[in-house]
Amino acid sequence: MLNILRYILLILVFTYSAYSQENNFCGTEIPSQQWENIFSSLINDFKKTHEQNSSQQFTEYTIPVIFHVIHSGQSVGTFPNILQAQISSQVTVLNQDYAGTGFNCNTYPVNAFIQWAINQNLPAVNRDSLGRVKIANINIKFCLAEKDTSGNTLPEPGIERINLNSRGWVNPNTFAVPADLRSYFDGTIKPQSIWDVRKYLNIWISDKNASMPFTGFSTLPPLSTLPGISGAGEGTDSTDGIWSYSSAVGSAFIFPGGVYASPNVRGRTITHEAGHYLGLRHIWADGSCLTDYCADTPPAFTSNTGFPVYPLNPGSCSSPANSPNGEMFMNYMDYSADPAKYMFTYDQAVRMQTAMLNSPYRNQLGTHGLCVAVLGINSEGNSIPEGYLLMQNYPNPFNPVTEISFSMPGTENINLRIYNSLGREIAVLLNSTIEAGYHTVNWNAAKEPSGVYYYVLSTDKISISRKMVLIK
Ligand SMILES: [Zn+2]
Repeated sequence: MLNILRYILLILVFTYSAYSQENNFCGTEIPSQQWENIFSSLINDFKKTHEQNSSQQFTEYTIPVIFHVIHSGQSVGTFPNILQAQISSQVTVLNQDYAGTGFNCNTYPVNAFIQWAINQNLPAVNRDSLGRVKIANINIKFCLAEKDTSGNTLPEPGIERINLNSRGWVNPNTFAVPADLRSYFDGTIKPQSIWDVRKYLNIWISDKNASMPFTGFSTLPPLSTLPGISGAGEGTDSTDGIWSYSSAVGSAFIFPGGVYASPNVRGRTITHEAGHYLGLRHIWADGSCLTDYCADTPPAFTSNTGFPVYPLNPGSCSSPANSPNGEMFMNYMDYSADPAKYMFTYDQAVRMQTAMLNSPYRNQLGTHGLCVAVLGINSEGNSIPEGYLLMQNYPNPFNPVTEISFSMPGTENINLRIYNSLGREIAVLLNSTIEAGYHTVNWNAAKEPSGVYYYVLSTDKISISRKMVLIK
């Protein structure tokens, strides 16, 4: 009997391992040398102009995002047709990661890459006050598109749900080979569902085959739209954007009610893919000790996985030598587990800002009036500490009841109030001490006229506001 129990336990352990060993490899194509040469010359121009500018502030950009949720008839909330809250948590992750305040950035070792910075003679702009390679603020923000390409308000911000059967598409989970999945998206799904790439970052999310090793891929920023110049992997107006496995979307910490596959539980797949979308290369440059064209990222022998410890593999590369500080496994452009990654560098920021300024599609991106709320960033433009996030309501527009949801990192006094478009307070939904975790509150607007309303959540530390629309 004991042996049978042991046997069952073993099976359970192996089954659990099979599910928990999802990797986070990426299928983005390696840029051509021609692309890199053109991009490098644009980067040099950007650096010259930027470093002459006395404030040295990066331009702020806000990119509207549309998630095309590809499913095969599952109801909303059933994988891969994941909930709005899981998708919103991804945008929060993007905003924090691109502001340099992503989850776990406070674990950056106190002596990280100081010797590397000295050996490379890195300028002050690449370093922080301790002399470490700096965790950069890219100054690029992301917002859920509130309107479609015709100007209609979306029932769920940033989301288009598509039943693949209604389009006659093959289920993406039938492709076991990455190249086949990518070519089906590029040749069929993307061209038939893409929104204007000059106004939206298109992100397709779907199921995938269990044997398919990748959880994401992106197009590169094109540097010319002239025929013949466009190379492998560069986005076109019918392919530009990102694909991600649905269960790698969002943060299990911000929205525990979603569907996640370990270790992709912090939304770093799409942070990584958005890095490619904005011109970044892998930290190990898809070879052994090759350059990723960023002087502040040490060379790496190969990609890293799991939860490495600093310093990792010092001496693994000799020209230039990465000893004694080793490899930058905490960079979003490595393959380390989601929680182990928490930084972009200044030189990576320069590449992304250069793409936003010069790439024919990226340089058209801006809010275009398509969205207002920037999740994860408060009204002063500062990052909201992780945990207070994900304040949103569903449905929106609504009549007459909507559910407002939010999460809290700890027990706090909280105040949740509703204001009308004149700024007049019309309801107090909460004014009490609330425990850590995810909460929902309904608002019944049966007595109110149609119009725009705001809900404001405030604590001793923060205040976040959001807009909603009552249509009767
Ligand atoms: Zn990648």
